[in-house]
This record gives sequence, C-alpha cells and structure tokens, in this order.
Amino acid sequence: MNTFLSAAQKSLQEQYLKFVNEVVAPHAADLDAGKACSKDMLTKLAQAGYLGITVPKELGGQGGDLLDAVLFVEALAGHSAGLAMALASHYSVVEAISRYGAELKTRYLPLLARGEMIGAQAFSEDKAGSDLSVCQTSFSGAGGDAKITGSKTWVVNADMPALFAVLAKDENGFKVFLVDSQNSSLSLSERKSTMGFRSARFFDVEFKGAKVSAEALGGDGLVIAAAALDLSKVLVAGAALGLMNVGIKLAAERANNREQFGAPIAKYQGVQWKLADFSTESAASQMLTYRAAWSHAGEPTEFRKYAAMAKSYASRSARLHSAEAVQIFGVMGISCDEPLERIYRDAKLTEVLEGTSEVQKVILKEQLGV
Ligand SMILES: Cc1cc2nc3c(=O)[nH]c(=O)nc-3n(C[C@H](O)[C@H](O)[C@H](O)COP(=O)(O)OP(=O)(O)OC[C@H]3O[C@@H](n4cnc5c(N)ncnc54)[C@H](O)[C@@H]3O)c2cc1C
Repeated sequence: MNTFLSAAQKSLQEQYLKFVNEVVAPHAADLDAGKACSKDMLTKLAQAGYLGITVPKELGGQGGDLLDAVLFVEALAGHSAGLAMALASHYSVVEAISRYGAELKTRYLPLLARGEMIGAQAFSEDKAGSDLSVCQTSFSGAGGDAKITGSKTWVVNADMPALFAVLAKDENGFKVFLVDSQNSSLSLSERKSTMGFRSARFFDVEFKGAKVSAEALGGDGLVIAAAALDLSKVLVAGAALGLMNVGIKLAAERANNREQFGAPIAKYQGVQWKLADFSTESAASQMLTYRAAWSHAGEPTEFRKYAAMAKSYASRSARLHSAEAVQIFGVMGISCDEPLERIYRDAKLTEVLEGTSEVQKVILKEQLGV
C-alpha cells in the first residue's frame, strides 16, 4: 500500500483545513470554555455535509472512506477535540448501520448524513466500561416492538436529536438497537467538568422501557459494538494527530520567539531534541493511523489490528509530546490563556475513550494469536 495521500485526498485535506480554520478555529477557546455552543457547531458541520462523509452518495452522503473521515477529524481536533469526539461517535453509528443494518440503511443513513439525526453510542455503563459483556441494560419483547430498560453512561451527542445505538441483552444474548431520542422514553443527566474534550457534552442516559425504532441490527451485539469501536478508535487516533499538529506548531513558534540566556531557546539542543522527537513520533503516528484507515476497506482482515495499534500509539505520542510542548512553553504552557494546556488535557483523554490503551494491547495480543 501507499502510505502517502493521493492528489484527491490532499485536495480534500486542504478543503477540510480551510473550513476548520475559518469556521471552528476562531471559536476554539470559547468552545472549550463552554461559551460557544457545540450544538451550533455540529449544525454548521452538518450544513457543510461533513456528517455524511462516510455515507454512500446514493444515500445522500459524500461517499468517502474512513481515511477521508480521519482527515476531517485530524483537521478539527486541534481546535475542538470534543467536536472530533462527537463526530467519531456519529460515524461509528453510521458504521454499525452500514454493516449490520440491512434495510435500515436506506431509512437512517440519509438522516444521519444530513445531520437531522446525530449518531450516539450508548454502550458504556457504570459497571461495563472496558468489559461490555457485563452490560446490564436489557430488552424485552420481540422485533420492532422491543423495549429497552437500563442506564448508559458518558454518552456523547445524547442532547442532540440523537439516534442511539444501544447495547442491550436478554436471556439469549446481546443485541444493538437503534433508539430515536425524540420518540422514546428516556431521561438525561449531564456529566460536567471533564478534564478535556470540553467542547463535547456527556450524559448518562436512562432508558425507561424505551421503544426501539426498528428490529435490532443483525448479529451479535458485542460484535457490532466492537466493530463500531474499531472505527471510532481510528478516528480518535486521527484526533491525536490533530492535537499533535497544533502542539508542534505552537511549540516551534514559542522556541523561536522566546529568548533566554541571550538567545532563542530553539538554539539549545535540549529544546531541539524535544521538537525533533515530537515531529518523528507525530509522523509515525500519522502513517500508522492512515494505514489503519486505509485497511478498513483495503485490507479488512487487518483492520482490527491496525486500529488498535494506531489508537494506542498515536494517543500515547500525543500525551507524551504535548507534555514536552508544555515544558518548552515554560510557565506560559500552564496558562489557561494559551491553547497548549487545552491540547495537553485533550491529549490525555485520547488514551481513555473508545477503548483504553491497555485494552488495545489486549486486542493486539488476541490478533497475534497469543
Ligand atoms: C471523553 C469520553 C467520551 C466517551 N464517550 C462515550 C460514549 O459516547 N458512549 C459510550 O458508551 N461510552 C463513552 N465513553 C466511555 C468509554 O468508552 C470508557 O471510558 C472506556 O471504554 C473505558 O472504560 P472505563 O472508563 O470504565 O474504564 P475501566 O474499564 O474501568 O478501566 C479502568 C482501568 O483498568 C484498565 N483495564 C481494564 N481492563 C483491563 C485489562 N483486561 N488489562 C489491562 N488493563 C485493563 C483500563 O485500561 C483502565 O486503565 C467515553 C469516555 C470518555 C473518556
């Protein structure tokens, strides 16, 4: 495979960066501080067609592949990692429906592409984080008449006109159901004050005998949830790339402009090496992430492996090197008036969501057959 972007992908990347720089970047600090509304921003992304990047053209989307979505999330995340997370969740519901939704595809993918509904993963529970097999949310009744009861935690996009993909079980096993937030019995309770990804909002969602929108997606619910998470974890790796791109740029600028001991600190080898390591690790993360995204369609049997590698490698690099960028900034690195402390907080979160780094290693062990 070619790990470089094609001319068409480069042109898309430029289009994405232009959009993000004009529409999102000016509001980055306000989005992080909760002074600008992430819902409004998602509406703008929907109007520009970006909620439908991975939806086929015949269903109203852009017909792009996972690499296209990664490029968009990469462009976005350095300015709003929370929005990038909201998109990762949305695209993962698109993925679950595309792969397991049979005729539900024609019903829901056009709505998701237009942003009339926003996909929301409702997998995690208080006692079911890394191990979704202990999920307690249950369903009763058959087919499209099933009802869902239980509580999900940390659900992003739940306050939107959401289409929840809900993992639930009965005595025969697990299924994933679609639940329309506007047409079901549920209540939301917001989780406030997170360390990072503050431009996203997180909710605990209680389903109270909520009616499902249709028959369950076809297949074992745990397998469907794993497939959705495999896709969204590559997008989180893309978000880590975006955070690193902005972190390196800021750190290099600061190193050139800040003088101590009579010279710009960029003249000192101790600073140069930090920047050199950062750019190397960022490039390595990018190649691995693009490789994972490409394998989604290009080499599906390898996708799960590369997704786990990309997520754990890129998120670790982002966390380690954004910390070094803060170090280069000195005391200004910890100032909340500078964007770098936001990058650092957001980078840490990429190691936790959509499967922790440790869980990616468990997946890799399984993929290696040990
Ligand atoms: C910003 C953010 C957004 C989120 N959005 C959503 C969402 O929209 N929908 C949703 O359903 N969930 C969401 N989540 C929840 C997320 O998926 C879980 O946080 C994640 O799966 C980890 O579960 P946990 O936090 O309960 O950690 P735990 O599973 O309790 O793990 C705790 C620690 O134990 C380690 N550990 C666990 N098992 C093993 C093992 N086998 N080997 C080694 N170490 C192990 C973990 O790596 C971790 O360090 C979100 C989380 C975050 C942070």
